[in-house]
Amino acid sequence: MADLLFRTADEVSVKLKHERIVVASASDYDTKINLEIIAIYDNGYFVFVPSKYNLQGSVYVDKGNAFKLNIPERFLDSRINYITDEHIVSLYNRREGCTCSRCEEFYHHSEPNQEDGSMICYQCREDRFR
Ligand SMILES: [Zn+2]
Repeated sequence: MADLLFRTADEVSVKLKHERIVVASASDYDTKINLEIIAIYDNGYFVFVPSKYNLQGSVYVDKGNAFKLNIPERFLDSRINYITDEHIVSLYNRREGCTCSRCEEFYHHSEPNQEDGSMICYQCREDRFR
């Protein structure tokens, strides 16, 4: 995987134009909002789209695409949007903790517990088929 600048659970700032996320370099835009990265996918990110935003190009999460796109189950029935580094204006907030490398859930104040520096959560360690 390429080196990405951001990681799961980061809140990043993006620009909107006509309810669509535009590249960060765009000088003509309507507003800036902060969105949370919920999954890394194919050299980019899926961000959670709160229901107050009606973003063009966002995708509804159901059981079928959640599995395919690596989206944690708690985001079922919500909307997500795919972005890449070129859409991100800046990092707004980064929480302390790690994302489980198996289920992709974020755990506050957790630390790496695998030899390769990654973290696998308690549930995933208990249930290897999760
Ligand atoms: Zn896990």
